[in-house]
Amino acid sequence: MLSIRNLVKVYPGPVPALQGVSLDVATGMFGLLGPNGAGKSTMMKIVAGVLEPTSGDVMLDGENVTAHPERLWPILGYLPQDFGFYPHLTGEAMLKYLLELKGVTAPQGMKRLVADLLERVNLSPAAKRKVKDYSGGMRQRLGIAQAIAGDPKLLIVDEPTAGLDPEERHRFYRLLAELAERRTVILSTHIVEDVAVLCPRFAVFRQGQIVTITSPSAARRSIEGMIFEGAVSGPELDELRKTRRVTQAYLVEGRNHVRIYQPDGIAPPGLAPDDPTLEDAYLVAMQGEIGTWRAA
Ligand code: ADP
Repeated sequence: MLSIRNLVKVYPGPVPALQGVSLDVATGMFGLLGPNGAGKSTMMKIVAGVLEPTSGDVMLDGENVTAHPERLWPILGYLPQDFGFYPHLTGEAMLKYLLELKGVTAPQGMKRLVADLLERVNLSPAAKRKVKDYSGGMRQRLGIAQAIAGDPKLLIVDEPTAGLDPEERHRFYRLLAELAERRTVILSTHIVEDVAVLCPRFAVFRQGQIVTITSPSAARRSIEGMIFEGAVSGPELDELRKTRRVTQAYLVEGRNHVRIYQPDGIAPPGLAPDDPTLEDAYLVAMQGEIGTWRAA
């Protein structure tokens, strides 16, 4: 069990990036969902031991690792957001280099380990291709290959699906879900679909604070009977934006559609009730006061 207690991080500026975050994470996939700048990467870096918190503690299975992050490293895999590659190396050579940098031991030989890891992330056929010719999804899978070397109990992946096309994203989802079967995986993202697809539990981050910790189904249930949808004209949409809580406005076959959060459950004129989506629940959480969103 990973326990985070009252984490505060103030960057020079001063930017209060984390304002007292507490969280318990058990085995399986846990999501951190929030917009850019909410503090997710800051928290990931502190947990990974590459950034010192201003105050607060990170505990793993009861041991405080804040002061000794190196104790965590043998059981930690980390895929940072800004993962750098040498474009002219082959995938195989790049991975070997990363493993050597990490100090990974390979009792059966480095060549064998590299081949096994590439196999694990479905990159064997591309082992001899240069990283510059890899797609975004292939690069992320190569990043995961270095992160899972040594079979870490805790895997931290920061915004791993940003920039992936739908097919690559779904392939990557399968890999992450498989990895979370027997370890703790913390996934940070601003993409609601990532959480809906992968995370039985997640925390919503806003302005360095946790708005709620919940599950996708409980989040949707918390606004059941309160979401209304329908086609509207442009001027109607402008008016609704002024008078109601619009969670989403989008085009369907060129026509404006709107989704409204109406906590009293009374249908706005011309709109029909609809099943809440996780996107609705997230957007409601982002609009509300911190601490007032009903968590499950
Ligand atoms: P997220 O991962 O949710 O996008 P971050 O943790 O990257 O959020 O950023 C949280 C806040 O801290 C933002 O306001 C960001 O500009 C600021 N920040 C992040 N890194 C630094 C830094 N090295 N120095 C100063 N401010 C920073």
